Amino acid sequence: MATINKNFTKLPGSYLFSTIAKKVNEFEKANPDAKIIRLGIGDVTKPIAPSVIKALHSAVDEMANADTFKGYAPDLGYAFLREKIAMYDYKDRGCDVNADEIFVSDGAKCDCSNIQEIFGLDNTIGVCDPVYPVYVDSNVMAGRTGDYNSKTDRFDNVIYMPCNSDNGFVPELPDKAPDLIYLCFPNNPTGAVISKDRLQEWVDYAIKNNSVILYDSAYEAFISEENVPHSIYECEGARKCAIEFRSFSKTAGFTGLRLGYTVVPKDLMVEGVALHGLWARRHGTKYNGAPYIVQKAGEAVYSPEGQREIRENISYYMENAKIILDGVKKAGFEAYGGVNAPYIWLKTPSDMTSWEFFDYLLEKACVVGTPGVGFGPEGENYFRLTAFGNRENTIKAIDRIKKL
Ligand code: PLP
Repeated sequence: MATINKNFTKLPGSYLFSTIAKKVNEFEKANPDAKIIRLGIGDVTKPIAPSVIKALHSAVDEMANADTFKGYAPDLGYAFLREKIAMYDYKDRGCDVNADEIFVSDGAKCDCSNIQEIFGLDNTIGVCDPVYPVYVDSNVMAGRTGDYNSKTDRFDNVIYMPCNSDNGFVPELPDKAPDLIYLCFPNNPTGAVISKDRLQEWVDYAIKNNSVILYDSAYEAFISEENVPHSIYECEGARKCAIEFRSFSKTAGFTGLRLGYTVVPKDLMVEGVALHGLWARRHGTKYNGAPYIVQKAGEAVYSPEGQREIRENISYYMENAKIILDGVKKAGFEAYGGVNAPYIWLKTPSDMTSWEFFDYLLEKACVVGTPGVGFGPEGENYFRLTAFGNRENTIKAIDRIKKL
């Protein structure tokens, strides 16, 4: 008799984006003339850069010719891409990361949810609260988190590390060290970044406690300030305790193309075993590589034109972020993020709950955002706006919020 993986039944319903969609649909039905502006989406809106499109076309043509056709990609990714990544994303920033420590994939979501497979089920996990939900959910599915407590909206065996305005949305080092520590900077949803000194403290803590840091830097390209680390490998000793995830999704508009990568340094050992070998085995067994044409597109991102073009798009989004941040501050909100990240995290007014504020903004301004509580209990009384919309709508939305 077949049975199911009971751990899946412990997952709380994926209520956040479906509830938002339901509420917006109902509002649209009741108010057919309302011009709704969506500042809740975490997806890019600008098209792929021209030089990347050119590389895609030319790779497609290669597939049409017997001499240049490509079948399965090498397990860990094509050398032409891994070498560019090692050079431009790491060596140029003074990080000791080699091409053979880079595993190319179809995006950071798969990697940061699959990575837990190479660790024992008895590992404890530590996550920020609020948090990108994938880290917890993938551990729930694996059976590492214990039961869900609907009263606290938390899993019994997860160490939640509160991130709020008191600690600048950067977690404190827990007294009891989690075995696996998920960190994400620049952060989704708060838009916060971590200083190099604070990140170094985390690296030292992980080494001292034999923990592994799983560092998600999917939004690294949005960092605009000096002295903000782009990679955990800027910290001394990180090669011995950290895995890093990166994505082309927001950096180069690849949410629909799909490309990302994970760095597992060769000297990262757990119980005397190199994690590099374990991840290579897992990758080779369960994954057959990102498409050749997409890896060629990824390579084009590192060309001088590619870099210029993707920087233009990022600047466009970050100008939106500035408009939102300045606008909501002028309207009297306490607001964070938006300087090194495409997310603006604002405190709801008059202690409104996140959902009350969602309804209020939808009804009074026809603007859609994301309730902070959807990212964890500590996100209650917060609200996330994103900078991925178009300029005209962003300006309109902020004008409407100011008028409220
Ligand atoms: N990590 C964080 C923090 C994200 O916000 C996202 C996407 O929203 C991802 C990873 C997933 O990126 P990808 O599109 O590469 O799967």
